[in-house]
Formats: sequence, C-alpha cells, structure tokens
Amino acid sequence: MKVIAPGAALGVLGGGQLGRMFALAARRMGYRVHVLSPDADGPCAQVADVAVVAPYDDLDAVADFARDVAAVTFEFENVSRAAAETAARFAPVRPGGDVLHVTQHRLREKGALTAHGLPVTPYRAVRTPAELETAVAALGTPAVLKTAAWGYDGHGQALIRAPGDAADAWARLRTDEAVLEAFVDFERELSLVCARGADGTFVHFGLLANDHRDHILDVTVSPADVPARVEADAVEIARAVTAALDVVGVLCVELFLRRDGTLLINELAPRPHNSGHLTIDAFAPCQFELQVRALCGLPLVAPVRLRPAAMVNLLGDLWTDGEPDWAAALALPETRLHLYGKAEARPRRKMGHLTALGDTPAEARARALEARDRLLRGAPVI
Ligand code: AMP
Repeated sequence: MKVIAPGAALGVLGGGQLGRMFALAARRMGYRVHVLSPDADGPCAQVADVAVVAPYDDLDAVADFARDVAAVTFEFENVSRAAAETAARFAPVRPGGDVLHVTQHRLREKGALTAHGLPVTPYRAVRTPAELETAVAALGTPAVLKTAAWGYDGHGQALIRAPGDAADAWARLRTDEAVLEAFVDFERELSLVCARGADGTFVHFGLLANDHRDHILDVTVSPADVPARVEADAVEIARAVTAALDVVGVLCVELFLRRDGTLLINELAPRPHNSGHLTIDAFAPCQFELQVRALCGLPLVAPVRLRPAAMVNLLGDLWTDGEPDWAAALALPETRLHLYGKAEARPRRKMGHLTALGDTPAEARARALEARDRLLRGAPVI
C-alpha cells in the first residue's frame, strides 16, 4: 500500500469526540483534516481544516467530500454502507464498508463472529413477540433484549428478569428486529483496543478494565489486573476478529470475563473506543495516531505503555449545579483534562474525560476519581 504522506488531506465521516481526537492526532502529524457531519459546530468541526455540513445519507455530498481527500475513515459507525461505498469510489475507505456493515448490526456481527468460531454471548434472533417467547424459553432469564441496529450506551436495551417481562420489553424497544442475549454473570468487563494494517500487522494496547455506570462507561484502568493467560486469550481473539473481518484500522473488542476465567465478546467497535482514550496520555503511540497510521499506510509499531493510567468520563450531569471546578481537579499531579467542545451539557452526554497517571493502576484510578470528585466539591481545605 502506498504511503499517504503528511500534508495530504484525510476525511472523517462523523463529527463527534472520536473525530475530534482523530483530527488532533492527524494535525499534529501534519495532515489536513476534512470532516463531514450534520453539525456545523460539532467537536470535530471545531478542530478540522474543512467542515462539510451534510447528513450522512446525502450521497452527493459524500461523493464531493471524498473527491477532496486522500483517504476516508469514520468515527460514527452508523454511517450507511451506501455512504461508505460512495466515498470508496473516490478515495480508499478504511476500515472498509463491509466492516461497517457487519458491526453496525448486532445479528450480523454475532453471526460473523460465530461463523469464525469466536466466543459470543449466547443469543437468539428475535423478530416477533412469538420468537421472543421461544428465545426466552431457550436462554432462560435474566436475559437482555437489544435492538439489532442503532444501539449504544444502553439505548435500545431492556432487561428481562422473568418470562412475564418479555411482552413489555418487546413493546418498549419498538423495533422489528432484535437480539436476545443470555445475561452474563461476569466477573469483569474488559476491552482490547487494537490496530491492523493493510499488510496484516497487528498491534494492541493490552487489556483495559472497564466499569460501567447506568450502561455508560465510567472508569477505565490500564493495565487490567487479570492473569497473563486471560490477556493472551483476549489478544488472540482480537487478532482473529481483525483478520476475519479484514479490518484496516483501529478496532475495539469489548469482552466479558466470566468467573471461570473464559472470555466472551460483548460487541465490536471498528474505530477508536472510549476505553482507549487513556492511550493519548499513557501510551506511545495512542489509539488515534494508530488510526492515522493505518489509514495512511504508515508503520504500526507496538504501542508502549509509559505509565499505569486511569480514565474517568465526564458526563453532562456534572454541570447540573454550575461550572465544574477545573482548577481543583487540575491541581492534582499527572492529571489531564480532555473536553470535547460540546456547547450543551445534557445529562448522560459525554462532555469530556480526565486521565490520571500513577505508579500503579490503583494509584492512577484513585487519582482520576479524586479529580472528578474535585470538579464538584473543589479541593479539600487543609
Ligand atoms: P452494550 O451496549 O451491548 O455494550 O451494553 C452496555 C452494557 O450493558 C455492557 O457494557 C454491560 O455492562 C451490560 N450488558 C450488556 N449485555 C449484557 C449481557 N448479555 N449480560 C450482562 N450484562 C450486559
């Protein structure tokens, strides 16, 4: 693959924080960044060289956009396959539209993973209330019903505690295609962020330990405190996933670690991931630089962990009682603030994150949590 050298323009479909951090990494390396998104003042548009404002299904706009850049990637995985294919007529799109098509639909994703012998949560496809009843009988309760498409951060999910809840869950989801998953009594939630080059080179950041609150990622710690064998298994799973889907770019495998030490794939994200944000401060290179490198055919070197690290998400809820106390949080050592430039702080909306480093993962975690706490309570009075 021919190297796309710095100075060229790179296109990103999707204008949120993932696009913003991609753009910052690309611009640091001397690329120009064009973004296409429906939002003129979105997180990525604010830092891009060129912002095209158009809906993702405006294929003429997508074609014009792709004509002006050397390569296209995406940060919003619900960009349609038609948009990815349109862009691909004018510039290489990495990862390709097929990867998007598979990963934006839970049934297609689980089907592809199962076909390659990869471990997924036990599941059934559900298209009618009758199918749901059969699926609940087969998988037992509790179980989780999820829309097949357009789900994120717990949106489009309903917990079925007992068979009697099924009809209500189906009605609440308002979908005609869903997946029922057995509820996994996991010990830990983990993720493996990795990258694969066009030549098949595979690199990764090691296992990240994730805590969720209310279905949204809350805290990530690196390295995850798990046995070496679990990490080796996760790496092999991720390597197999990227090869099976022929991914060129960054991919995150979200995993459940079961109490017996085995891993199940929860879901895939064919792009940098929230759990990988700490790599900006704690690894060289970070997940966004690897995204740039994979897109441009530059070498994918194995990322080196510089320090143990922890990341805490900053949701809009933090603004409920006014502006957070930034100075109090940033008075802590080895603590860095990343805000995404979103104008309106709505509850549950990801506004930014804090990353803290430390001598140990536990120290980094405690520091990150204290930093977030200080946003609300200020610095302790001594
Ligand atoms: P998802 O959008 O599928 O990543 O789900 C969001 C979160 O819900 C996950 O990170 C888990 O904490 C929880 N969750 C989702 N599916 C399951 C499951 N089958 N069993 C247990 N917890 C789940």
